[in-house]
Amino acid sequence: MSTPMIRTRFAPSPTGHLHIGSARTALFNWLLARKTGGVFILRIEDTDTDRNVPGADRQIIEDLRWLGLNWDEGIEVGGPHGPYYQSQRMDLYNAAIRRLLEAGQAYYAFDTSEELDAMRGEAEARKQAFRYPRPARLPDESDARRARDEGRPVVVRFKMPAEDITVHDEVMGDVTVAATELDDFIIRKADGMPVYHLANVVDDTAMGVNLVMRGQEFLAQTPRHIALQRAFGYPTPRYVHMPLTMDMKGRKLSKRDGAVEVHAFRQAGYLPETLLNFIALLGWSPGGDREKMTVAEMLELFSIERMNRVNSKFDRDKLLAFNTNAVAEASPERLSAGFDDWLAVNPDSPLSRAGLDAATRATLLEVNRGFRTFADIEHKSGFLYVDDEGISYDPAAVKKVLAKNDNAGFHMLAALLPQLEALEPWSTESIEGFIKGVCESQGVGMGNVAQPLRVAVSGTTISPAIYDTLVLLGKPRTLNRIRRALAINQ
Ligand code: GLU
Repeated sequence: MSTPMIRTRFAPSPTGHLHIGSARTALFNWLLARKTGGVFILRIEDTDTDRNVPGADRQIIEDLRWLGLNWDEGIEVGGPHGPYYQSQRMDLYNAAIRRLLEAGQAYYAFDTSEELDAMRGEAEARKQAFRYPRPARLPDESDARRARDEGRPVVVRFKMPAEDITVHDEVMGDVTVAATELDDFIIRKADGMPVYHLANVVDDTAMGVNLVMRGQEFLAQTPRHIALQRAFGYPTPRYVHMPLTMDMKGRKLSKRDGAVEVHAFRQAGYLPETLLNFIALLGWSPGGDREKMTVAEMLELFSIERMNRVNSKFDRDKLLAFNTNAVAEASPERLSAGFDDWLAVNPDSPLSRAGLDAATRATLLEVNRGFRTFADIEHKSGFLYVDDEGISYDPAAVKKVLAKNDNAGFHMLAALLPQLEALEPWSTESIEGFIKGVCESQGVGMGNVAQPLRVAVSGTTISPAIYDTLVLLGKPRTLNRIRRALAINQ
C-alpha cells in the first residue's frame, strides 16, 4: 500500500505578528511537507471575532515570507480547497452543524452567562469539575426560536459521546482522556460563529489535511476534535504535538525579556536563516552535537522521530551567538541584502532617514565588522547621521574620558582642534598619520587621543575605528562637534 502524500497546514489566528512559537510550528510543518514532496497549506482561523486584529493576516504573510516559508495552498496563493479565511467558509460550518443537529449529535442550549456561572459555582462548592448538564429532553428548533424571541443566547452544543478518547500522538505517545472529563462543549456561539474546534476539524478534512502538527497546548483539545471527526465520519489525521518553548526560567515566553515575535527579531537585525536554524532546535535536534544547519540541511535531517518530549528553553544568548557567527561568515552580498532589509523595517532609524547610498551602506558594514546584529550598526554608527545638535553627551563618558585628570581629555581636544582645522586632505590616511604623530610627539597612547575625539563626535565611547569615524563624519561636522564638546566644559 502506498503512503498518501503528506498534507500539512499552518492555521494561525490573526491576532498579530507571528509569535516565535508559531513560527516553529510553521517551520516544522513546512519542513515535513517539503521533505516528503507533500503540501503545506496556510489557513487563517478568524472565526473568533473578539480576538481578530485587523491587518494581522498581512503581518503573518510578511513574517512567513521573510523566513522563506512558502505555502502551496492558502491565502494569497489560492488552491483547490479555498477560500482559506475561515470567516469566508461559514456555509460549510453551518451545514456541518446542521448535520449534527439533525442526527441528534448536537443540540441547542440557551443558558445565560449568569446561569452558567451559577452552575460552575455549585460544582466548585461540591469540589467537582464543572460538566455541562445535558438536559433529558434535547431542545429543538421551536425551543430555539422561543429562546431567541425571549432574548436568550442561543448556542449549539455537541453531544459528547460517553467514551474515553485516546489520542495517538507521534511525539507524546498515547494520551487518553476519560469520558468524565469531556462535556458537551459549544460548537456554535450565540453570535452564530462556529468555535475553533468545529471550524478546525471541518477544514482539516475539507482541505485533505492528514497530518496535524501543532503546539502541545492544543493536545488537551484533541479528544474533542477526534469526537467531532467520529460524529462526522471523518478520518482522524496523524497528530504530532510539539513540546512548548519556555523562557530560561521555565516560564511562558514574555515580551518583558525581549522580542517574542518574528518581526521584532527582524527589526532587531537577525538574519532569517539564523532564526530558522535556532527555532528548529526548539524541540527537535538532528542528533549528536550538531546545531548549525542551513535550511537545506534541516530539510535533509528533519524527522518527527527526533522530536523531543520535553519543553525547550529559549536561550537568547545562544541566538545572539548564532547570529554573530552567521554574520561573520556571511558573504558581502548576503550582508548587504540583510542590511537593506533591516533599514526597510526600521524607517525611524537615523541610518534609514539618512537615505544612505549603496557605497556608504557597504562602508558601514565594513567599518562595523564584528557586529552581532544589524541593530549593532545603528548602535555604533547612528550618531554619524544625526544633527550635530542632536548629539547628547553621556555624563559617564564625559567624566571618564574628558574630565578625568584635570580635564586632560578637554585639553587634548582643545589642542587638536586647530590642527584638525588645518589638516588637508581629510582622509583615513591623513587622519591616521596625524593622530599617530600627536601620540609620538606628546608621548601618549592612542587612547588618550582617540577616546576624547570619540566622545566629542559621538557623545559616547562607542564608535567604529576613529579614522573611519572621522572620515564618514566629514571635516566640518567633526570640528563642529569638537567645539560643542569643548563648550560643555565652560
Ligand atoms: N488557530 C489555532 C491557533 O491559533 C490553530 C491550532 C491548530 O493548529 O489546530 O494556533
